[in-house]
Amino acid sequence: MATLIDGKAIAAKVRAEVAAGVAEMKAKHGLVPGLAVMRIGEDPASKIYVTSKRKVAAELGFHALEVHLPEDVSHAVALERLQALNVDPAIHGILVQLPVPKQIDADSLLAALRPEKDADGLNAVNAGLLAQGRETTLPCTPWGVMRMLEEIGFNPMGKRAVVVGRSILVGRPMALMLVNASATVTICHRKSNLPEEVARGELVVVAAGVPELVKGAWIRPGAVVIDVGMNRLADGKLVGDVEFAAAAERASAITPVPGGVGPMTIAMLMKNALQNAQRTLRR
Ligand code: NAD
Repeated sequence: MATLIDGKAIAAKVRAEVAAGVAEMKAKHGLVPGLAVMRIGEDPASKIYVTSKRKVAAELGFHALEVHLPEDVSHAVALERLQALNVDPAIHGILVQLPVPKQIDADSLLAALRPEKDADGLNAVNAGLLAQGRETTLPCTPWGVMRMLEEIGFNPMGKRAVVVGRSILVGRPMALMLVNASATVTICHRKSNLPEEVARGELVVVAAGVPELVKGAWIRPGAVVIDVGMNRLADGKLVGDVEFAAAAERASAITPVPGGVGPMTIAMLMKNALQNAQRTLRR
């Protein structure tokens, strides 16, 4: 039976580190790191996510700001507001909450974000630096997975890692972080032979957004299984992308859903915002 990887506890540890870093920055440099979250429109899930990001940021000592723009705001006005945050010296991290309304071009908005203020690593310059294996701001969810692996003492070096999903948000940067950590990485998508590929993984990270896509019987005995998926079923139950109970029979360690990767994402966002502020002191 697999060990459960406690995302809540690891995230709490990361938040405590960030709070200590923020306090130190205030005491030594008189600098309060600032995080701004831009929310456009009335997507109900985005409202919940942004409220909780702002609340956590304030609890950890950040100057926390939400810029909320109306559903029908023009792309030009949204861009103007973003550019104002780009040059605001009190703001060190900026996050544009996705999705945005259809008249807004999310790609060009993210491209306009100054890379050194990018808080979630989705700006193309930062994604490029990650692809080159250089130091940069990392996307929060896969970076959270790397931290979980470190906490359980799993070093990806030389290991066979299988990543299911190739999104810009999770799968792609996850695969690159594992390559940078010297794993041998396979990236799977809709055209892959999943049972065959997953069965090879000493580490399996799944971010597909399909409830229980990865069957327990495919898991290589002793593998570490990280389930990024969060799927709300019709009965209200939250399930991951992995058939949890059967996978837990074969894996050596596994993340639950909820309480696994989920809590890590906000914690790593806070770490990014703090790191951005720390880098301004080095310049
Ligand atoms: P996405 O839809 O952008 O990408 C899904 C990827 O999975 C695609 O690359 C696609 O090729 C692949 N895929 C889909 N169906 C597949 C199949 N049948 N076989 C093989 N590959 C398949 O999704 P995303 O943004 O990467 O998110 C993935 C999941 O992770 C979702 O459930 C999302 O809710 C969750 N998520 C969780 C967090 C968190 O904080 N825990 C953060 C981001 C995303």
